[in-house]
Formats: sequence, C-alpha cells, structure tokens
Amino acid sequence: MNAPVPKPWILGIAPYVPGRSTIDGGTVVAKLSSNENPLGTPPAARAAFDAALGSLERYPDPAATALREAIAQAHDLDPARIIYGTGSDEVLHLAAGAFAGVGDEVVFVRYGFAVYEIAARRVGATPVIAPDRDYATDVDAILACITPNTRVVFVANPNNPTGAYVAGGEIARLHAALPRDVLLVIDQAYAEYLAPEDDDGALALAREAGNVLVTRTFSKIYGLAAERIGWGYGSAEVIDALHRIRAPFNVTTAGQAAAIAALGDAAFVERSRVHNAQWLAWFEDQIAALGNAGLRCVPSKANFSLVLFEGPVTAEAAYHALLAHGFIVRWLPGQGLPHGLRITIGTEQQMRGIAQLLRSIIAA
Ligand SMILES: *Cc1c(COP(=O)(O)O)cnc(C)c1O
Repeated sequence: MNAPVPKPWILGIAPYVPGRSTIDGGTVVAKLSSNENPLGTPPAARAAFDAALGSLERYPDPAATALREAIAQAHDLDPARIIYGTGSDEVLHLAAGAFAGVGDEVVFVRYGFAVYEIAARRVGATPVIAPDRDYATDVDAILACITPNTRVVFVANPNNPTGAYVAGGEIARLHAALPRDVLLVIDQAYAEYLAPEDDDGALALAREAGNVLVTRTFSKIYGLAAERIGWGYGSAEVIDALHRIRAPFNVTTAGQAAAIAALGDAAFVERSRVHNAQWLAWFEDQIAALGNAGLRCVPSKANFSLVLFEGPVTAEAAYHALLAHGFIVRWLPGQGLPHGLRITIGTEQQMRGIAQLLRSIIAA
C-alpha cells in the first residue's frame, strides 16, 4: 500500500523497550523492572490528585506556575528558569530538539539511558557513544568524543542502567573542558537517592553557567511515575528555547497538584532514601557472596542494581527463572547488556525473596 515515507533518521530509531509489568499466564510477585518507589506515593499527593477531579473540564495551567514556585523554593532556584515536561523524558527530547539537528552530534556514554539515543536520532542528529570504564562514566572518554559538530552531551548521574555515579569534581571538570556552545545535560533522575554528602554540584553549575541543563523527575523517589512530571533548570536562554517547542499543556492538572504535594512531604522522601540505601547495600552484599558463581554488582548509588553474570549461569537463564517465580526484572540485551540484569530495590520481603531465588538458581 502507498504510505508516506518516514524520514530516514526516524527509521533508524530502535523503539524504547519499557520494563515488563505482566507475566504471561502468571502472577506478579514483584515488579522490579522500572525503578518505581516500593513505598508507593506520598498520601498528600494522592489527596491532591483526587481533588483535581473537580476540574477535569478545564485545561491545566500552561505555565505550571505553582509547580515551578514549589520546585524553586525546595531547591533555591529562580522559578522563571524552570522548564517542565511530560516526564523528564520530554525535557530530554526538548534539549535535543532545540539544540541539535541533521549534521550535529549528540554524545552520551555506552550503557547510558536509552532515551538519549532516541532523542538524538529523532531530530536527525548523529549519536556518538563514549566508551565506559568498567561500566562507570569516563569523563575523559566523553571529552575525547567532542568535535566541532557536538551540540549536546547527556550524562545521567547516577546513570541508568548502571547506577554509576560521577563525583562533583568530575562533572565540574567535564563542564570546564566543554566548548561554551555545547549544551551539557545532567540528568539527575536519581539525585534524591544520594546520601546528603554526595552532591555532584550540577544544580549549582546550572545556576551559574549558560550551557548547563539539569533534569529531575517526580517518577522515581516521589512515587508519581503514572503522572509523568519532570522538570529542568538552566540559563534563561536555554529555557526560552525549550519553551518554544514544548507542547502547550504538557503537564496535567492532577500531576501538577500531586507533584507540589509530594515536594511537601520531606519525611516520605527521606524514608524512601533510607529504605533504598539499606536494602541496596544489603542486596549488594548478597550478590558479593555469589562472586564465585561469576555474579557481581556494578557499584550503584541509585534505586537499582545492575547485576552482571560472568560465570556459568547466564543473565538470560536467571531472568527467565525469576519470571517463573513472579519476579520481573530488566534484562537488557538491546542495550549491549545481554549479561546483565537491572534489579530495582523493592520492599524488604521482595529483596529477601529475590536474593533467595538467585541463590537457588545458581545452586541448581
Ligand atoms: C527514569 C529516568 C528518567 C525519567 O523518567 P520520567 O518518568 O520521564 O521523568 C530520566 N532519566 C533517567 C536516567 C531515568 O532513569
């Protein structure tokens, strides 16, 4: 049949593969595939969502004024320099869309977040992949990829799917060595999981520098993945460009209200961070004890662990065995990680369950 022909760079996109949420013919015991908060959603955010039912016929506030003010207050930022999106995914797409196009290059690390490549290709730009250093982000490798055609550099810190974290000094070094006309996007989707002493300095950099965009999300620690609310902070010039291509009513009324309420529940966020730190460390110890079977964790500062299978039991076999017991994790052959499983830190019961299953899979 005759049909319009998509642009060649669109056909070059491998579609994003989301984490599974169901098991064919089976019961889900634990969904540990999408880095969602096992403690749920702050109660005040639920109440705010419910209250939005009273105005479903109205468009949302297109300027997200109250949300920007709440974010600005929480992080000591200028509300005029906050962009918001349908998840931070949209903000990442806006960054590529406003600053890169055909003939330009967009740099990110191998084993980086899958959206970066899609965002680059979508606008016809060429993705350039910087090698990792044993799964960690290597600032020198990123810098070696910079050419006169580089327009955007994406760095997730902590990174997904590796959980790897680059210290603040390294982010500052990366920024200092980049040409001023290259946009450095620092994706902090997991920043709230960091210990208080771990600050990569990205927001401070974005306050001062003209070419830095920091992105954050309400999908992870704030427990609002369903509502798709993300935001970014950058110079007035960068934010102005992003607004020009943003969809007019891109964040919903209920989502804006729920996000504001979630920001107000510092105790929930702290409880989530402490829970994660405790069970991430516990899980990493459990995997370390399976080192003689070839398992190891990439050191993580996020709410998940990338477990590498470098012995006789493959990640694929473990993935299917876990599924058979109702545990959904992320196997990532499409991202160059056929030997890895990314496992979200869940409840205590879920973590004890998956550790026990992994021990029995290896012993079998
Ligand atoms: C989950 C995630 C996001 C964003 O998610 P949204 O739900 O679109 O806000 C962005 N970057 C990384 C690295 C992530 O893991």
